[in-house]
Amino acid sequence: MGRSEIALEMALEAGFDLAGIAPLEPPPAAGRFRAWLAAGRHAGMDWLQRQAERICDPRRLLPDGRSLLVVGLGHPRPPVALAGGGRVARYAAGRDYHNLMGKRLRKLARRLEAAGFEGRSRGIVDAGPLLERSHAAAAGLGFESRAANLLHPRFGPWFFLGELVLEAELDPTPAPPAGSCGTCTACIEACPTGAIREAGVVDSNLCLSYHTIENRGSIPPELHAELGDWAFGCDVCSEVCPWGRRDGDASETHGTHRAVSEAGLVDWLRSGRETFAEEFRGSALRRARRDGLARNAALVLGNRPSEEGGSALREALADPSPLVREAAGWGLARGHGADAGTADAIDAARARETDPAAERGLAAARAHLAGVERSEHAPRA
Ligand code: SF4
Ligand code: SF4
Repeated sequence: MGRSEIALEMALEAGFDLAGIAPLEPPPAAGRFRAWLAAGRHAGMDWLQRQAERICDPRRLLPDGRSLLVVGLGHPRPPVALAGGGRVARYAAGRDYHNLMGKRLRKLARRLEAAGFEGRSRGIVDAGPLLERSHAAAAGLGFESRAANLLHPRFGPWFFLGELVLEAELDPTPAPPAGSCGTCTACIEACPTGAIREAGVVDSNLCLSYHTIENRGSIPPELHAELGDWAFGCDVCSEVCPWGRRDGDASETHGTHRAVSEAGLVDWLRSGRETFAEEFRGSALRRARRDGLARNAALVLGNRPSEEGGSALREALADPSPLVREAAGWGLARGHGADAGTADAIDAARARETDPAAERGLAAARAHLAGVERSEHAPRA
């Protein structure tokens, strides 16, 4: 057995389900990524633009790096619902995958070193610093799909990726064709916002995953209805994918974090800035931060109105975050327009609002409510 095969076997022994070695060079997707940036498809993720050259060239991650070991770990597939409504992308339901994958990558790095693989290494767990799906496809871990995710014959889209850049020289894994989308266009048709503009090109300006996780500002009102139940991420394009429905499952479960299994949208909305760190400790949901999660919860509560949700939304009109105050106005306007006092509550919130953007948002929510009222009272033809 050669050194490369030994390294791959050690990756599986360290607890990963998939492993392959990609050439340490700009991946095939680098050109597409630059075009995607140039078209402004990255929405508010300006850091992608600033770091584009570094992201496109993995050799910058470790100056004397020679090899890129890519690993995959299946995660559970069942849909994840919050108590009282609201859904969370499946990858984020359990322990934070950054911790899980990072721990195993460190274990693998130690074992490789002990086994005589020379030099330093650097572990990566996130798409941020490199175009990981393209490297993973080059390493034989699947193929890049029309929905711009990576599909594997056993795991479909339901697995995490991680990378280890090594100074040790390893031969790239010959990557046999892993499959293709063929004539399927199910994800393009099912995407609630039309965010998949063409094969492999997702416009973040329209993508619910981007807005509920990475967007630090307001979610555009024209996407509020499309959010439906999605309080963190969106799995629609993965759920409809035939590759995701094949037999096979995650090799292990990663638990469900208490912020998902024991809490609901109302708890998220009421979560204070002081308690957020403790309540969401060890969860990938933290990526959206407290204000982002409370914003998402307010909007979903507007889509799925309830008595308790209505009370929480009224309280949230006085939230410390302008982002949340505005979203609470929208939640009330969209889900509780018929409740006595809703219009007055939004008017009062607007009158005391000191943040100009939130004031504009509350005004738009109030105008939406007035429009609904007008159409409800219009004479029927
Ligand atoms: S994550 Fe949701 S919104 Fe984004 S492309 Fe997929 S289906 Fe569309
Ligand atoms: S739903 Fe169809 S087109 Fe979309 S990623 Fe899956 S196989 Fe490809």
